[in-house]
This record gives sequence, C-alpha cells and structure tokens, in this order.
Amino acid sequence: MKSTLIILGLLLCSSTFASFEQAPPSFRYKTADAVYVDFQTAHYNISYDVDQKRTTVESTIVFDAPHAGFPLFDLIENPQSVMLDGARVESEAIRDPDQQTTFRVIKQAVPVGTHTLEIRHTLTTRVSYQKGKVASAFFTSDLTDRHYLEQYLPTSFEYDQYAMKIEVEVVGNAVDHSLMTNGRVKKIGKNKFEVEYPHFYTCSSLYFHLLPTDSAAFKTFEFKSIDGRVIPMQIYSNSVSIVDSYAALAVRVLNELEHDYAPFPHEKIVIYGAGSGGMEYSGATIASISALSHELFHSYHARALMPANGNAGWMDEAIAVWRDQKYPLVSQPSFSIARMAGHSAWSRMTDTDAYSKGAEFLAWVANRMNQKNLSFKTFLKDYFNQYKYTTVTTELFRDALISYSGIELKNDFRQYVYGKSQMPNNELERLAGELDSILSNPEHPKLSEDELNQLLWPEFQ
Ligand SMILES: [Zn+2]
Repeated sequence: MKSTLIILGLLLCSSTFASFEQAPPSFRYKTADAVYVDFQTAHYNISYDVDQKRTTVESTIVFDAPHAGFPLFDLIENPQSVMLDGARVESEAIRDPDQQTTFRVIKQAVPVGTHTLEIRHTLTTRVSYQKGKVASAFFTSDLTDRHYLEQYLPTSFEYDQYAMKIEVEVVGNAVDHSLMTNGRVKKIGKNKFEVEYPHFYTCSSLYFHLLPTDSAAFKTFEFKSIDGRVIPMQIYSNSVSIVDSYAALAVRVLNELEHDYAPFPHEKIVIYGAGSGGMEYSGATIASISALSHELFHSYHARALMPANGNAGWMDEAIAVWRDQKYPLVSQPSFSIARMAGHSAWSRMTDTDAYSKGAEFLAWVANRMNQKNLSFKTFLKDYFNQYKYTTVTTELFRDALISYSGIELKNDFRQYVYGKSQMPNNELERLAGELDSILSNPEHPKLSEDELNQLLWPEFQ
C-alpha cells in the first residue's frame, strides 16, 4: 500500500514537472529574464452588475516560479491593480523575441518559489447587458493569437494545467440567469454560482456562458457511459426541436467514440447548438449540427489529451479530420512540404494546414502501418489512454508513433510536419505562404467579433 502511494506521488510530481518542461524558453527582459511559471490554483470572482452594466473580476493566483525572473502570464484587458505577494506592482504587455505573440510580464522579479498574484480588472469582452439581464461567454479560438481564456481572465499558457474555481454573481435588479459551464456548478442562490474545474484544465479548456434563463431552450438528460457512469448531458439552443436533434446525434457520436477509443473522458457534457461551424472545450462545445461530431471528438483529442503549445495544435485537427473522412488511406502525400509544427517556440496558434495536409499525412502513415498489419486507430486508442489529461508535444506524438509502428518516421516528420527540407529559402517561403493562405476548416471558421457577440443571446423562439 505504502509503495503504491509513493509511486502515485512520484507520478503526480513528474506529470506536473513534465508539463512545465513544455514551456517556451525564458528570454531577456530588463535586468534579468522574463520567465514562464507554473500556476497551481486560480480563484476568480466575477460580479455582473445589471444596473451599472459593469463586470468586475477579482483573481487570486498561486504560482510556482521554477526559475527566478520576471513572471509571465496573460490577460488582454488592462488590469486596474496587480498585487504580488501582498505588494502593489505594475505589469505590461510585451512581445516575445520572435515577435509571434504578446503577453503580460510583471515588472517585479521573483525568486524561485511559490508566489501569490492578486489582480482586479473590468471584463468587457463578450459581455452584453440588457435591462435586468446580462449575457457573457468565454468563447475561444485556436486559429487566432491570444484567443484562449486570456481574453477574459488572467491565465497561464497551454502547457500549464491548474485548478480553477470561479464564483459568479449577477447583482442588481436582475431576472433569473443560468450558467452553462463544464465544471462542477453549485448554485448558492438566485444568480449566484460557485464552479470548480478539474485540475487538468488549461487556458483552452474552459467553457462558460452566463445567460438569462428565459433566453434559451434547455434540456438535461443522462448519457450512460460504456464504463457504467451516468454522465449528465446539458444541451441548449434557441428552440426545443433543435435541442432534441442535437441530443439524438450527440448520443450516436458518443457511442461510437466510446466504442472506438475510451469512456467519455469528462464528468459532464455541455452543448450549445448555435452558429456556423464550432469550437471545442473539455466536455463541451458550441457547434452547428454538421460540426457536432467533429467537436465532440475534440473532447478526446484536443481537450482531454491537450496540445502543449501552438506547434502541437495541428495534431488534434489532423486526427479529427482523418476521422471525419472515415479514416482514409493514401499511398503518397500530394504535397511536398508542410511546417505545421515548424513555427516559433512562442507561437500560440494552430497551423490551418492541419485540416488538409495534416490529415493526409496521417492517412499516409496509416497506410504504411496497414502494410505491416498494424492499425493507426489502435495506436490512437492506446496513445489516448496513455496521455489523456496531459499536455503533449509533436515530438512526443512522433516518438510514440515510431515506437508503436517500428516505422522510421523522423525524416518524414522533418519534411511534412516541421517543414525542413533541402529547398532554397525563397522556395520554402513561397510554399509556406501558400500554406498560410489555405482557408480554415469549415468546422472552425474564423468568426468576426459581431458574429461572436450575436452568439451571446440564443433568442429563444
Ligand atoms: Zn477541429
């Protein structure tokens, strides 16, 4: 018993450690380094005042600094105040050395160890007030820089998994509101909620939509998992008939995924039937009916087994599209180079080649496995069950594939995934430009700010 506990303890420590090891490199800032940190817990207190039409957020974050330096985190809104270990400090938005992205640095260096950050800010993004009502959502996208949780709350980056708790209150003369979210919700009173999220969540996991209860049709029923669990499924949309058709399709898709891969890897399922295309969250999605199957698959690859960085984002899209296409095989790739994982270490976006070239690359590898009487689907099942609830890199996926198949794939990854070849640089740049111009997959169209804001209100008919 004791030895089991020790082994479990070692596993838990090593997984936390491994996650931080996937952080991008530190870089020079002022007199020392700007350093990535390891969030332990984040506690957010959000107050929506329907009379003042104002949303205030108080956040308390406990983080470890494995290296001394100026701590990095992200929040797009300008905070009103930032306190570090009880003392007022300043923060500023800075760029990485490759000019790929922007994030926030605390202008106070910290020693190695555990620290507490307290931040106050006003939330203005994707919040809409009407008389006595508010609608607020934390919609995200992996196709645009800085489009995860940092749009709404102070957060760490994709490599970082940490326990989040959100307290939500609608104050003022307000109608009844509902909170649709993928955590454990405790309703404290009218318009007052406490939500706890699983410890494996990252900045890409959270689904959150607060809306007036009379603005949508809601349906909750029980999905019976293959492992015997009863998983609550919550579906909402602007009409009862739409909700019913989503429910029927979702059950069919989940039965397929549980049969092929694993019991559904989340405690609940939240589906917002709306919009064109969709976006995935951990055990949740906003999706059109045609994108629902693709997005539910992402509750396995993308939001249970999660990308550690922008260079890892292509894998879940490639795998999802390969499944959408019913697992085709190809004898040769139709393209000569792609660099889906060949971007800067600081890049935070998924390369849209994942949908086309990524899926085709996997179909080619699957074909070579078939020739050895091996199955890519079986590999995916084992790979998922081994790495679920962790963050993964392209190198980890590549090495797992090589180890399972015995096929020497390093050079193929170099050419078709990292975009490295003997081609002259100008030819490479031209091809890379072509890659970037390919439109995103219809499952994940880039929505405009107006389109996203319209999704706040389902407009119940
Ligand atoms: Zn997708």
